[in-house]
Parts: sequence; structure tokens; C-alpha cells
Amino acid sequence: MRLFWHRRDLRVADNRGLAAAVEAADDDGAVVPVFVFDDDVLAHGSPPRVRFMLDALAALRAAYRERGSDLVAVRGDPAEVLPTLAAEVDAESVVWNEDYSGLARERDARVRMALDDAGVARETRHDAVHHEPGTITTNDGEPYAVYTYFWKKWRDREKAAPFDSPAGADLVDGDATAIGESLDPLPSIADLGFDEPDADVQAAGTAPARDRLADFCADAVYRYDEDRDYPAKEATSRLSTDLKWGTIGVREVYAATEEAMAAAQQRDEGEEGTPAADAVEEFQSQLAWREFYTQVLWATPEVVTQNYKEYERPIEWRDDETAMENLAAWKEGRTGYPIVDAGMRQLREEAYMHNRVRMIVASFLTKDLLLDWRHGYEHFKQHLADHDTANDNGGWQWAASTGTDAQPYFRIFNPMTQGERYDPDAEYISEYVPELGGVSAENVHSWHELPVGRRRQLAPKYPDSVVDHSEMRERALSMFKRARGEE
Ligand code: FAD
Repeated sequence: MRLFWHRRDLRVADNRGLAAAVEAADDDGAVVPVFVFDDDVLAHGSPPRVRFMLDALAALRAAYRERGSDLVAVRGDPAEVLPTLAAEVDAESVVWNEDYSGLARERDARVRMALDDAGVARETRHDAVHHEPGTITTNDGEPYAVYTYFWKKWRDREKAAPFDSPAGADLVDGDATAIGESLDPLPSIADLGFDEPDADVQAAGTAPARDRLADFCADAVYRYDEDRDYPAKEATSRLSTDLKWGTIGVREVYAATEEAMAAAQQRDEGEEGTPAADAVEEFQSQLAWREFYTQVLWATPEVVTQNYKEYERPIEWRDDETAMENLAAWKEGRTGYPIVDAGMRQLREEAYMHNRVRMIVASFLTKDLLLDWRHGYEHFKQHLADHDTANDNGGWQWAASTGTDAQPYFRIFNPMTQGERYDPDAEYISEYVPELGGVSAENVHSWHELPVGRRRQLAPKYPDSVVDHSEMRERALSMFKRARGEE
């Protein structure tokens, strides 16, 4: 008998740890799948993420039940729960997939010790990425701090193929998992101490994740490089929350892109214009960003709270009362900068924000409001369903010019120009900022050049801007120059 401990891999198919547990148990064919509601982990949770997790767990349990098995769900400290369960079902070992954040690694070390003390063996697999941290390194064996070099090696390295779910017979009979403390039904979101999210969270589970992948690969993937920066177009995969929770395997996603690549190469033959194959490769390079940031977090877990990049002196982020009022306006989407407000409201409504807009609002927080990126990271952590420590931190530190491959400090987005370039018809803006709904795109994009009276007339309810971009840009430059010891 083996226990398989699900964590960020809430699926049966293409799951390396689960497959290893089934293989190891082939003498008696018995694997008991377990999920542990760990209060230490839940302390970092948020309503949209816990909602998605619970829905994904319900789908996972249903998938096991269809196979004549069941998911054991227990609340407690995994370092206590797992040895107890192992003793109860007489399991020889516990198997799980590696997680690479500092917090997860600390927890796993405690679990390993507890299992050792109980005389239960354990085994782990790498599942959440194609190339686990530490395997794509510089020629000196160091983790990469520059994405481009990482990407070239990542792209050229062979990728494993996806594989099917273990057959029902390999999993333990449902009756054998009728363990006393297994929670049935699963706890509600309130039982776990969270309110229902205000946002509409995407459907969770392997089936909806596969639908998203299939939809994306049917069409949008071939235009990804041209369209991905336009938030009004449905041009990206929306797979980030699935990849975060492992409701679909990375091998399955990559294999679909390889099929799309083959189709793209056929399409490109004899065609003029941007090759579709480049578009598919651009998408694969986003999958590699995820693995790049995973290895950054693994190599330097302290980036969760500290700047990756050292400056001569501390950056003098604003933290006075006005700065905190500006922070509140940013969070609520009432900065008076249309594209910023649209993004911040999309976040609240959908627990998601388009990547280009994440970059714009992050630049605005750090370089227009001169607020510490950690405020933004915490807000995203509360509101994004796809919050992932590695990617969220990587994105924030990039925008704040404190990260690995960061924007140079002097590259400061102009939020008005960004809005005009990436939302030319102001479609995205009017969807999320109804106060500007009847205003022409031209007026939206030159909003601050219009006389105040005209603005009031066009959109009486839209807030005045909290800061002046040109003035704040100069202040940001000198803030960074001081940090660099140049002023
Ligand atoms: P697609 O464009 O379809 O990309 C496919 C997948 O590639 C994504 O699902 C994601 O797993 C990965 N990916 C894409 N872009 C990036 C990137 N820049 N960095 C790392 N991985 C990437 N992504 C998260 O998954 N979780 C986060 O918490 C997160 N926070 C971010 C915060 C900031 C400030 C910024 C600038 C970016 C952040 N991102 C985060 C990256 C990116 O915005 C999202 O992954 C993307 O918008 C998700 O939409 P999608 O699945 O449609 O992406």
C-alpha cells in the first residue's frame, strides 16, 4: 500500500508522483490518494484561490470515484496526518510531487522527518515543470538570472510526453479509503475561514482546463505573438490558474503546443507575413518564463520579501499618509488613469488581470506612485486566482526594477500611451470603467489634456487623477538615482 499526497497537482492524468506510487504498489495495486487541508498554508490563502482549490478538489474526488476509488481529505498538520494515515492503512511509503517555494520546502522537510521517525518511506517526483530547478544552469552551474539564456537551453532540451491516468484497478478500492477522519463532503469555503469571493472565479478541474487548452490551440495560438498584448482580444490561454494548481499537466500543455507547431509549419509553407510557427514558439516561451521564475524562487527563496537586485542604498519608497491614500485609490481602480483603473477593476471582478495590464498597473504603483512593490504583490496575492509565488514575485520585481531580468529603472511606462497603444478603441477600458463608457476612444486616450470642465461634462463620475505622470516620472528617476548612489 502507498499513500499519494496531492498538493499542487490536483489531477489524475499525467501526474508523475501518482504514476510512481501506482507503479511501486504493483504487487497489491493499492494507492490511497490524500489531500491535507493545512492551516499554515491556508493562512496564506485568499477567497478566489481557496474557491478554485475547493472546486478543483471536488473535481478530483469525482475523478477518483469514477475509477472506483476515492480521495481521502483530512484537515491538520501534514507532519501529523500523513504518518497517522500511513499507520492506519499500513502504507509502506508516502509519495508526492516536489514544490519549490521556500515555505513548501520547509513544510516538506518537517514531513520527511516525521515519516522517518514513524519508519515510513517516502519518495518524490518532479512534476510541475519540464526541467526542474537546478537542471538548466549557466556553464558554471549557477541558476540563470537572465531569461534569454535560460530560454534557449529550455527550448532545446527534450520534453517528456504526457501519459494517461492510471487504470482504475491500480488505485485502491473506494471502501479501503473509507478512513474515519476523511472529510465527506469536502469542507465549505466558510469552514476553511474564508468568505465567498466577490469575483467570478473560472471553472476548476481537468475538464475545463482541457477545454481552455483546446480552445486556445484551435485558433488564438497561431496569432499569439501579434495579439497577446491587447487586453480586449481573447488572445491568451487563461491557463495560469490551472498551471498553478496542476489541474492540467505541463506535459499535456506542451504536447498540445507541439501539435499546433506542426500545424503552423504546414500553414506557413508558401505564406507571406508573420509565421504562425513563431506565434506558437512565443507561447512556449511564456511557459518557459514560468519555469525561469520557479528556479529563481528555488535558488533565492528570500526574494518573496526582499529585492533580488541590490542597490547601493535603500530605495526611498513613499509611505506617508498621501501615499497610503494613493495606494487605496490604486487598489480600488480610481487613480484617474483609465487603463490602470480598468486593470484593477478586472482583478476584483474576475480574480484575473491581462498580462500587459499587470505590467502597466505594476509600473504605475512603483514608478508613478513610488510605492514599494510589496504592497502590490500583497494585493495581487489576495485577489488573483492564479497567484503563484514565483510568477507574481517575478512580475512585481521586474516592474519595480528590483528583479533578475528587470526593466531598467529609467524605463517608465506612460500609462496614457500604453492605453492608447494596447487598447486603441478603448474597448477594454469601457468594459471595466463604465463611467467612461460613452466617451470616445480619442478623448479617453487624451483624457488629461482635456480641460477639467470638459472631462466633468463627459464623465462626471470618473475620478480626477491622483498624481501627475510627468512630475512623478522625474521623482521616480531621482529616487532610483539616489538608491544607485548617483545623487
Ligand atoms: P498566457 O499568455 O496564455 O501564458 C501561458 C502561461 O505561461 C501562463 O498561464 C503562465 O503560466 C505562463 N506565463 C505567461 N506569462 C508569464 C510571465 N510573465 N511570468 C511567468 N509565467 C508566465 N502569472 C501567474 O501565473 N501567477 C501570478 O501570480 C502572476 N503575477 C504576475 C504579476 C505581475 C506584476 C506581472 C507583470 C505578471 C504576473 N504573472 C503571473 C504573469 C502573467 O501575467 C500571467 O501568467 C498571465 O497573464 C496569465 O494569463 P494566461 O494564462 O492567459 O497567459
